[in-house]
Amino acid sequence: MAARRHISKDIQTKVSQRANCLCEYCHASEKWQYVEFTIEHVIPLNKNGAETVDNLALACFHCNRKKSDKTTAIDSESGVEVPLFNPRIDAWSQHFIWSIDTLYIIALTPGGRATIATLALNRERVVNIRAGDKTIGRHPPVDDPIQS
Ligand SMILES: [Zn+2]
Repeated sequence: MAARRHISKDIQTKVSQRANCLCEYCHASEKWQYVEFTIEHVIPLNKNGAETVDNLALACFHCNRKKSDKTTAIDSESGVEVPLFNPRIDAWSQHFIWSIDTLYIIALTPGGRATIATLALNRERVVNIRAGDKTIGRHPPVDDPIQS
């Protein structure tokens, strides 16, 4: 995790625009938040990750804190260590889909499952925010897949 002040405004803007202002993990929108989202190192600096746009992701404070310097986690179903969702090489929709009521992120892959668990993508507070945002048309993000 790195505070925004360490990364130039130009890079912050590029990362945010590329993400459509969504946390690249939980898909919360930065537009409706009191605090700016963070710029997260997908591969952490302490694992030789670069401080370049292709290693950075927009992440809400909570997802950034939960991910920390992890890049893998144990998949609860197989017990195997798998790579976490990597927003720079994976498409969100390959690993995740919204539940029919759009309140919960459902995993489509072992990596998706491990990421949901590790980052607590369906934590109670964010589910409550999704429910509220849904009633006023702010959730889910327009291009996201929904279970049918
Ligand atoms: Zn998030």
